[in-house]
Amino acid sequence: MSAKVIPVLDLRHIQRAAHVPALAEAATGLLSDTLARPLRDLRISVTDRCNFRCVYCMPKEVFDKNYAFLPHAALLSFEEITRIASLFVAHGVEKIRLTGGEPLLRKNLERLVGMLRALPTPSGNELDLTLTTNGSLLARKAQALKDAGLNRVTVSLDSLDDATFKRMNDVDYPVSDVLRGIEEAHRVGLGPIKVNMVVKGGLNDQEILPMARHFKGSPVVLRFIEYMDVGASNGWKMDEVIPSAEVVRRIDQELALVPVAPNYSGETAARWQYADGSGEIGLISSVTQAFCHECTRARLSTEGKLYTCLFATHGHDLRALLREGRSDTEISGAIAHVWEARGDRYSELRRADTTGPLAEGDSTAPRKVEMSYIGG
Ligand code: SF4
Repeated sequence: MSAKVIPVLDLRHIQRAAHVPALAEAATGLLSDTLARPLRDLRISVTDRCNFRCVYCMPKEVFDKNYAFLPHAALLSFEEITRIASLFVAHGVEKIRLTGGEPLLRKNLERLVGMLRALPTPSGNELDLTLTTNGSLLARKAQALKDAGLNRVTVSLDSLDDATFKRMNDVDYPVSDVLRGIEEAHRVGLGPIKVNMVVKGGLNDQEILPMARHFKGSPVVLRFIEYMDVGASNGWKMDEVIPSAEVVRRIDQELALVPVAPNYSGETAARWQYADGSGEIGLISSVTQAFCHECTRARLSTEGKLYTCLFATHGHDLRALLREGRSDTEISGAIAHVWEARGDRYSELRRADTTGPLAEGDSTAPRKVEMSYIGG
């Protein structure tokens, strides 16, 4: 585990800084960070393990058979996850996304889905419960997840061609298994289904048009993700990034596209519709069109650390507070303290810093947390 961990949140310091009454007030109620961004989305990683070794996330050379994955006792239990999630919901979180590693590797995940589904929200609206998966186990799990109360799934699929797929995920998994998972998720009603394709120049960018042709006219929304310098292991290079504008240009040449307005502010993907009305695609452009100014996402690692950015270098240890018997009010106050002090905008800074340390994977820069540890 790379990222430096800030010692247990020093509540005495918070109490001194925030006066006990303020702490109590912080137990519920909407939160905004230093850039006036509300806390609205929580991404929960339920495992740091995965059965794929995608080169942009969990390269095999680093995450090999000697890699020290977290022992089970270190993981938050479903009860602990649900308790922490309830505190975030009381602070205004409306959407929870389950991630990993590969979340479907966590046994009985549908039990956690059922526990989260039962959480009341301050607004009375149904919590939006979603999951991001590589799809390899989805065909088997879709019905149980749906029955437990999951709303939607997002499936990662970087190619339709088995050879290219293998080059991207570095394991011998057939594309057909993932496509069957998508079909089954659609059949049981886990839609609208989104498919995320990470585009890495020189590896799978030739698949942009075949993927667009395949999903055009289907209920699936295909989203293209710019290759990112997440974590400290994928050897990211700017010249392997295919800018979203280029993705649009390539598709538009054959399948005419028109830009459309976002569904809601803070939506990560820019939307484009096919001019003939047969569906839409999304572009997630963290490198060339950063969207930090609308980022409302917090991330909880599988061992209970709170991260305020995908590119963070340190987390805040909520599990320690849980396991040392702190009250909901105290833990909720700690969450409020962290979010209200948040000022992250890594992608915007990277964008501006074309020559400095962020530009080209500077080895002296602080080590960023691995995406496989906190979820994408
Ligand atoms: S770089 Fe960080 S702050 Fe910016 S959008 Fe991504 S997670 Fe949010």
